[in-house]
Amino acid sequence: NKQVILKNYVEGFPKETDMLVKASSISLKVEEGSNAILVKNLYLSCDPYMRARMSFNQDPDFSSFTPGSPIEGFGVAKVVDSGHPEFKKGDLVWGTTGWEEYSLIKNPQGLFKIHHTDVPLSYYTGILGMPGMTAWAGFYEICAPKKGEYIYVSAASGAVGQLVGQFAKLMGCYVVGSAGSREKVELLKNKFGFDDAFNYKEENDLDAALKRCFPEGIDIYFEHVGGKMLDAVLLNMRLHGRIAACGMISQYNLSQPEGVHNLMNVVYKRIRMEGFVVFDYFPQYSRFLDAVLPYIREGKVVYVEDVADGLENAPAALVGLFSGRNVGKQLVVVSRE
Ligand code: NDP
Repeated sequence: NKQVILKNYVEGFPKETDMLVKASSISLKVEEGSNAILVKNLYLSCDPYMRARMSFNQDPDFSSFTPGSPIEGFGVAKVVDSGHPEFKKGDLVWGTTGWEEYSLIKNPQGLFKIHHTDVPLSYYTGILGMPGMTAWAGFYEICAPKKGEYIYVSAASGAVGQLVGQFAKLMGCYVVGSAGSREKVELLKNKFGFDDAFNYKEENDLDAALKRCFPEGIDIYFEHVGGKMLDAVLLNMRLHGRIAACGMISQYNLSQPEGVHNLMNVVYKRIRMEGFVVFDYFPQYSRFLDAVLPYIREGKVVYVEDVADGLENAPAALVGLFSGRNVGKQLVVVSRE
């Protein structure tokens, strides 16, 4: 059973060498009388929140991985043996699993069964999984968007951002995204239908870039980045604007958060800034599927994935999120069947 092991707690930027890929043995049968299931992992999701789990912390939502053990994350898997009455051999599921070929899942209650297989299975790591739910809940619930509003999305070509932009276009909003390369900017404009896009790494003055894209200001900011970007956005928000605080990836590897100086704008401009965590929306998963599956089937929403092949390449794929190496949703294929 090949596994991706965390060697030790991480400080600063994570590196490939913080993890080790090695083989161990596992029984391919579930013990008699146990409620566990044994799954074969097919696709694993690389997600920025996993960085928090690589450090020592006592947060119940993002508890530390255990050094010397395989890391875990969201994934798509096939049940190969089951002691649980609700799961049987051959079922496809998505949810938290180990970064390894086979995982014994002691409490499978939190897994979602996959019933729709006319779409790519890997989509359950992205558009039909946790990032998809994040874009959906964040945009429709937290942003409370209205037709015609001006929307800005940072990290816009990624797993969540590409969907927020497309949802915003379907609603009739004007949407601008930023990303960290020319290739990504092209994708935003030509593949995902953003009205405009810019490469934040080529802008000396983020405030000026935002003023150029939004001469009348921003109604809704879908926040993924934090730090200097958030600071510049605060100067460009309109009265009664809304900020959905989804993530602040520029801060995740810093020992001290980078100062935001323009926070008083929240007061002057009567901005509503609201944080959210996607887990709170998991009970609404079937409502989400009813909304998003038709968009995929009718070609109204597209999804770009960045696929790493094999567990050997998984550590590089995961750390690549923090330098923007991924183009689209980063996932790892462990096995295609
Ligand atoms: P992405 O697929 O967008 O991958 C991360 C991207 O972040 C990189 O490709 C890179 O793109 C950008 N990035 C990395 N470092 C920096 C930096 N220092 N400054 C600016 N941009 C940077 O990831 P996701 O779509 O999965 O996640 C996006 C955000 O949403 C993250 O902040 C994540 O933590 C958050 N999130 C929150 C959830 C919630 O429940 N609240 C759930 C899921 C995600 P680029 O080339 O553009 O720089």
